[in-house]
Amino acid sequence: MTKPMVTLFARDYANGEPIRIEIEGDRIRRIEPAWPQGSLNDWPFVSPAFLDLQINGYGGTWFSDDALTAEAVLKALSPHFGFGVTRLCPTLITNSFEGLATGFAAIREACEQSAWANRMVCGCHLEGPYISGEDGPRGAHPKQHVRPANWDEFQRLQEISGGRIRLVTVAPEVKNGIDFIQKAVASGVVVSLGHTAATPEQIQSGVDAGARLSTHLGNGAHSMIHRHRNVIYEQLADPRLSASLIVDGHHLPPNLVRTFIRVKTPQKTILTCDAAGWAGCPPGVYENKLGRSEILPSGKLVVAGQQELLAGSAQEIDECVANAISFAGVSVKQAVDMASQNPAKLLGQEVVRLRRGSLADLVVFHITAESRIGPIRPISPISPISSPNERLRLNIEATIAGGELKFGSIVPR
Ligand SMILES: [Zn+2]
Repeated sequence: MTKPMVTLFARDYANGEPIRIEIEGDRIRRIEPAWPQGSLNDWPFVSPAFLDLQINGYGGTWFSDDALTAEAVLKALSPHFGFGVTRLCPTLITNSFEGLATGFAAIREACEQSAWANRMVCGCHLEGPYISGEDGPRGAHPKQHVRPANWDEFQRLQEISGGRIRLVTVAPEVKNGIDFIQKAVASGVVVSLGHTAATPEQIQSGVDAGARLSTHLGNGAHSMIHRHRNVIYEQLADPRLSASLIVDGHHLPPNLVRTFIRVKTPQKTILTCDAAGWAGCPPGVYENKLGRSEILPSGKLVVAGQQELLAGSAQEIDECVANAISFAGVSVKQAVDMASQNPAKLLGQEVVRLRRGSLADLVVFHITAESRIGPIRPISPISPISSPNERLRLNIEATIAGGELKFGSIVPR
């Protein structure tokens, strides 16, 4: 059965030009200039949809849950269409072999049951368990399950996942770490450095062995480090490494986001929300095997009972894209590409472009600047920089995955 053709009118996210897009099947059939009847400012933007490398769950479901089921996976995946995400990597953190095996089996089952989930899960991210055991770099990963790199164990998990592990975060200094990185890279898995207390030399060895990403650079590190020779500068300076950044407004201060993006360049920066399983839950206190967490009214997710120690992110990628624009002064296109093209390229996934023949994974959105002192105003794609009194927001109007409307509606124009 052929799908009905979808036509949408919006502004090209790269230059703000009004366009008409025809979608047939899962592909863009035609793109041509359009002429709005009313004000162009009323038209939303259209861009490639987002791909998030690191999602830990949603609405109270954790992909790292020892009792994860396929049903829970599907329930945690579908809300992401609402954030403009069509592809993502469910992320399993440091756990026992049995816990990881249960998780990957449930994800595999969900993908085998459901075609949309199989498209959305463009890979799984195994974050740990081969990471630093030190307090600080280890972050919230449970210490009792941190262990030396083990290629045999990884291969068994890869088999259970049905070959879905596409990304693994490793600390290069762990026992057997370099050998593991070489084998993982040779098998086609992307290796990322993270949750590490490595020396600059150990970082270099990891990159020489084939690592190509830094996992949430600037987080998962000691809070006090040497001012010159440190794990962050070494990764920042190496042009072979892309960097993923959590730009939720809490994990990194705005000026550090600006510095990282300028040094790493927008082409080698990847935005991720690293959302916790508590994302999507209302403010309150929540508890699981990782401990008690609290979502504050501001949306900040902290260890329960205090205000500063982060327990993950409760923000999603749409918010990170808006923050990147205001924190780093990048264009709408640069910010969106950091959350779509760049992660797709890194994983070897199809890169979506606004052109004929491309995969129709698209997001339609408005950007507004909410000011504490004035009215909400629309943003220009060419010079979107907001003032310190403004907060940018992405309002998703529609998400199209594989040519199908998965969220919102296509407003006739
Ligand atoms: Zn992490």
